Amino acid sequence: MASYAQVIINNESSMVDRPFTYKIPERLKDNLKIGHRIKIPFGKGNKKIDGFVFSLLDQYISNYEIKEIESIEDDFTAFEERDIPLIEEMRERYLCTYIQCIKVIVPAGVFEGLKLKKSKTVYIKKTLEGKYKKEPYDRIYGIVKESQGIFTKSQLSKTYNISLSSINTLIKNGFIQELEEVVDRFDQRNYEFYERKNLNDNQREVVETILHSDEKKFLIHGITGSGKTEIYMNLVEKTMELEKDSIILVPEIALTPQMVERFKGRFGNKIAVFHSKLSNGERFDEWMRVKNRKVQLAIGARSAIFLPFNNLSLIVIDEEHESSYKSDSDPKYHAREIGEILQKNQGVKLVLGSATPSVETYFKANSREYHLLTLTKRADKATLPVTEIVDMREELVRKNKSMFSGALLRAIDEALSKKEQIILFLNRRGFSTFVSCRKCGFVFKCRNCDISLTYHHHNDTLSCHYCGSTEKTKKICPKCGSSYVKYFGAGTEKIEENIKKYFPSAKTIRMDFDTTRKKDAYEEIYNSFKAGNADILIGTQMIAKGLDFKNVTLVGVVAADISLNLPDFRSGERTFQLLTQVGGRAGRGEKSGKVIIQTYTPESYSIIAASNHDYEGFYQEEINLRKTMNYPPFSKVFLINISSKDEALLIKISHSIGQEVKEKLKDYEKIEILGPCPCTIGKVKENYRWQIILKGDIENKFAISIKNLCYEKIKNHKGDIKISTDLNPLSLL
Ligand code: ADP
Ligand code: ZN
Ligand code: ZN
Repeated sequence: MASYAQVIINNESSMVDRPFTYKIPERLKDNLKIGHRIKIPFGKGNKKIDGFVFSLLDQYISNYEIKEIESIEDDFTAFEERDIPLIEEMRERYLCTYIQCIKVIVPAGVFEGLKLKKSKTVYIKKTLEGKYKKEPYDRIYGIVKESQGIFTKSQLSKTYNISLSSINTLIKNGFIQELEEVVDRFDQRNYEFYERKNLNDNQREVVETILHSDEKKFLIHGITGSGKTEIYMNLVEKTMELEKDSIILVPEIALTPQMVERFKGRFGNKIAVFHSKLSNGERFDEWMRVKNRKVQLAIGARSAIFLPFNNLSLIVIDEEHESSYKSDSDPKYHAREIGEILQKNQGVKLVLGSATPSVETYFKANSREYHLLTLTKRADKATLPVTEIVDMREELVRKNKSMFSGALLRAIDEALSKKEQIILFLNRRGFSTFVSCRKCGFVFKCRNCDISLTYHHHNDTLSCHYCGSTEKTKKICPKCGSSYVKYFGAGTEKIEENIKKYFPSAKTIRMDFDTTRKKDAYEEIYNSFKAGNADILIGTQMIAKGLDFKNVTLVGVVAADISLNLPDFRSGERTFQLLTQVGGRAGRGEKSGKVIIQTYTPESYSIIAASNHDYEGFYQEEINLRKTMNYPPFSKVFLINISSKDEALLIKISHSIGQEVKEKLKDYEKIEILGPCPCTIGKVKENYRWQIILKGDIENKFAISIKNLCYEKIKNHKGDIKISTDLNPLSLL
């Protein structure tokens, strides 16, 4: 029996980022396991702090006195032995500490010492017989059999409108029983049954290949509407039949109520749902449900990949190209990379799906690291929409100064007259609508962040989408005093306002950053549009994802260029993906669809390829470009972000780090340095931002040494300067 334990302490400082050895007192020896949260005396004053057991040792020889573990804090383990290699690999790969890794795989509730809420739920005890084989006992018995342990007596009574006394009769006579059970803080709503479809040949082939091939990593490249969800569901069903567990990842789940709707509709409430909008209590409960083997399926956003299934066999990552799969705080992991680690360590099958795979993943599929499966047809007879590119420069020549082209206006008019629905999409990030002076070019920017303010019509204010500060609009330019202040760049509000001018009787609904801040707002807007309460849905990025509305026949992209002009090597890829995804919202029912893309750069390959539904064409252009420029997947990018409220200090430190990195790079021919220079977004929340980008053949070890060098440089400026590093960043802004 182990006598010593190596412990990771709950402290983020890199100074204590190593296992500390503790003696296991006799009284704890029987119970202590890897992953237990424990109390230990630490440091000179022997302050009691939390730690996690990382490994167990029979012997340990030391010249120092070894302290003893004080107590075990929970009756469950926070992680298992099988997670140790994952933690080790994450720490190395994401250049972070052990405890930071533990904090992403274990929900916050564990750190807070949350316990499960318990109550009594109803189970079957013995077969119904004799005079009880009749209504209402038959029915109650049937429901309990189906729902074992899900309902308390009163929930059962309420949900199914059954009298409590009938339930009590069955309990008294020993047919059903109440057992002390954990209850979920998560409200288990009932969903409409989602009917099983007969797979078409294409879908069936994909399912069969994944189930029966010896390969473990798959990429399903299926056009929008090709029925990938149905494939995932089939894979889950087959996995469940083998009594094994599955995880389905979707991009930020709150944004795709439709996915949850479908999965709950098919698999009932026996699935765990895990996303960032849950409270700590709800997350803890869902995590526990998985841990206690109450469910065999979880659906969730990126952190669901860490759910502690015992018998995990399938991981599906839907829309694998989505940037929400990457964490923007340490450890800056990507769910796909974690999937690959779990595939390697635990033999799990990893299935990625997308209509527009990331360039990196498609490259891997081409080099056979992933088995590529292609779906080229829409599942339900629907056809791909016809796409038209409108050159907005010509509209201007024709004296059309409005934000809508003649073609788009005619198409909207036609769809409205046929009582069909329309989606208008604005390709922008928060900072791309701005207010400026037409005379001197002055742009209104946030005082705290170097970001153009966004104009809000409804309360006549300017607001910053980074820090949230607002100010009143100004009629006079603060720089030159002219009164030619102009609201540039169409926001969704502006679009809505204009639509009302052209089509006064059309009902519109907006979905963007502002209208979806409240917890269930997204779902409400989604349901309202689905129910046909509006004719036109106007929105940003968030409407491009996964929505499936049968009555939408027209998608208008109001300005396709905005994301193209961002200084980031992935901007072409982003634009292509966005346009393809949003175009895929049209014509998903029996009526055919139309997409109109308005642009000032109709010659861009991203826009042309998107309009032709030509992924392959886009990919060839893009991969050649990446190769020429030596960008990923041909190299690695290492981003060092330095920020401070003190601009002078920031510039000095950035140059000094840059100097030292350049010195170091003399031994590494294959690594280039870009910068130091100010970031595209030069200031956020009063902090100025500079960056250094390294590009080339960068190994983890090298990146760690650079990171250490950076921290060494700011040692004497603790608190005044922040550094963040990312090996393989998704955004360079
Ligand atoms: P994707 O996820 O590939 O965009 P979906 O899974 O949303 O596609 O499927 C698109 C539509 O086709 C959905 O309405 C779905 O119900 C329907 N569908 C999927 N598979 C089939 C099938 N085998 N037969 C009929 N309809 C199907
Ligand atoms: Zn001016
Ligand atoms: Zn701001």
